[in-house]
Amino acid sequence: MAKRKLMMLGPPGAGKGTQAKLLSERLSIPHVSTGDMLREARRKGTPMGQEAARYMDGGQLVPDEVVIGIVRERLAEEDAQAGFILDGFPRTRPQAESLDAMGIVLEAVLNVRVSDDEVVRRLGGRLSCPACGRVYHEAFSPPTVSDTCDTCGHLGLIKREDDRPEAIRERLKGYWAQTNPLVEYYESKGVLVDVDGEREPVDVERQVVDAVQ
Ligand code: AMP
Repeated sequence: MAKRKLMMLGPPGAGKGTQAKLLSERLSIPHVSTGDMLREARRKGTPMGQEAARYMDGGQLVPDEVVIGIVRERLAEEDAQAGFILDGFPRTRPQAESLDAMGIVLEAVLNVRVSDDEVVRRLGGRLSCPACGRVYHEAFSPPTVSDTCDTCGHLGLIKREDDRPEAIRERLKGYWAQTNPLVEYYESKGVLVDVDGEREPVDVERQVVDAVQ
């Protein structure tokens, strides 16, 4: 039986979101992305969303207590009881320890490895649909019709504020200082699986699927 309490770890632009969506469909478990939830709170203009926006635009991490609160509520929902795929959480040691404190034991942590140069190349050209969240790349995977979302037809794809070059550098700095140490944290728990994120997307998917068997 496939593992069902999963997490995607890796730098920004590694393809965590794409792979998490595929796994979520394949295993019928919810895709829990803190980045998506924060962007949604921001779109709705909630006080938490407004506070988070200040950090997100600069490429900095939102404070632990804010993100931990969101995840705790989400994982308490009915549809997450049989499993979930965490994407973009935990990103710091206190966040990882908060999962332990909630009594959540991850069955596999998929560590998607991509070099810094590749991250810069990918995020620099990233476009997304503000309506449905689908992600494109100007050069590698453009929409069929220029500026129009293939999935929902929305006209006007946007560049995320935190995909500007200065914000990308800031996010990479944060990744190496705060998130990469989690590789060792989960390695010591025996649940870490390395995935080569620089291969073709179908190949990355195959590695991910194998890892959860
Ligand atoms: P993402 O879509 O996962 O790249 O997240 C976008 C932004 O949301 C990040 O650059 C952070 O500002 C914020 N964010 C998402 N997840 C977390 C987290 N687990 N801890 C702190 N900040 C987060």
